[in-house]
Amino acid sequence: MESCLFCKIANHEIPAEILYEDDRIMAFKDISPQAPVHFLLVPKKHIENLMETAENDESLLGHILFYAQKIAKQEGCEEKGARFVLNCKTDGGQTVNHLHLHVLGKRMLYWPPG
Ligand code: 5GP
Ligand code: ZN
Repeated sequence: MESCLFCKIANHEIPAEILYEDDRIMAFKDISPQAPVHFLLVPKKHIENLMETAENDESLLGHILFYAQKIAKQEGCEEKGARFVLNCKTDGGQTVNHLHLHVLGKRMLYWPPG
């Protein structure tokens, strides 16, 4: 989608601190980190949110999750773990309408969220 912020990042039209990229996904640091480690994984194709995925997106979703844990380990979160978050639509607190998985680590996070 032409006006979408994360499409522009995924297409290298807007700079970001990229941690990983392949033909299907990109991982980049969050511009406003809420923990010492805070990065996002996005599909390169525009998907509005988790509830807008289709049956043939199943392997893409698995790909995102698999690389989330892999990069989290590379960022030093293996020993103590991390938080993997997918905000969806208004009640889920989604502000950027392009599916993204947050990974937060290197500090103790609490539950439930506010
Ligand atoms: P949401 O609230 O939609 O789950 O999360 C959107 C995230 O995108 C926020 O954590 C916000 O800091 C991050 N973000 C917003 N604009 C930009 C940007 O231009 N670049 C990067 N790297 N992150 C952004
Ligand atoms: Zn998009």
